[in-house]
Amino acid sequence: MTPPQTNDVKYTLEVRDLHAKAGDTQILNGINLTVRSGEVHAVMGPNGAGKSTLSAAIMGKPGYTVTKGSIMLNDRDIGAMPTWQRALAGLHLVMQYPTEIPGVGIDELLSEALSERGIDPAKLTARIAGEATRIGLDEALIHRAVNVDFSGGEKKRNETLQLAVLEPRIVVLDELDSGLDIDALRDCARRVEDLTNERNLGVLVITHYSRIFADLKPNFVHILAKGRIVASGGPELADQLERDGYEAFNP
Ligand code: ADP
Ligand code: MG
Repeated sequence: MTPPQTNDVKYTLEVRDLHAKAGDTQILNGINLTVRSGEVHAVMGPNGAGKSTLSAAIMGKPGYTVTKGSIMLNDRDIGAMPTWQRALAGLHLVMQYPTEIPGVGIDELLSEALSERGIDPAKLTARIAGEATRIGLDEALIHRAVNVDFSGGEKKRNETLQLAVLEPRIVVLDELDSGLDIDALRDCARRVEDLTNERNLGVLVITHYSRIFADLKPNFVHILAKGRIVASGGPELADQLERDGYEAFNP
């Protein structure tokens, strides 16, 4: 279950004909996406298109039900697994609205998560300190409760730090760029871009603005509207979207 500790193994997240409900409402109507190690795929869509529902369905968030289709990680169907098993298998989600966890320190959370992955957390303190410096997060925050009373920027820097320390194989970033000032956005986006090169991380970056692409360069861009991918292409698709708006892609 635990991913091997080398990054030469290629990972593939394959979403096939995914239909999903949020609560009792049908939101996703047949999504097809394949994200491989080292690739950056952007999913862009207006508010309410189903972007967060897609991220929730991939990660197995309670309250979201897959009604048809499959979610495969390296040819293994993970669609029925609880979230923690998907995480151990190599998936990670950075949520649009990071959860506050009173009473649990960031260092405690990361220590537990690494132990669960069979990784000795002995060198964790130095590792966290290094990542905190790199992402521009005050080291004092590391001992505080996860995201409690953090600013918007601190929350997303903290989430990015967790991503760097936990070293998943494929990450879904649900609006990493929301609630961030320009400096924090640049630092977080660059750190993720570096992880695609240093660790061969595969990325599904969900956003409605192309601003984040200045530092996190997508290889592929997909446009999501009304629960379907209505267009796919290269980075030029994001430029077209900036020019013409989502209206031009209305299904
Ligand atoms: P996006 O992230 O693209 O803005 P969402 O996936 O959050 O869109 O939401 C898509 C639609 O699903 C919205 O109309 C939203 O109100 C609805 N929705 C989201 N979560 C739930 C839920 N738990 N129950 C019912 N409807 C939901
Ligand atoms: Mg959303």
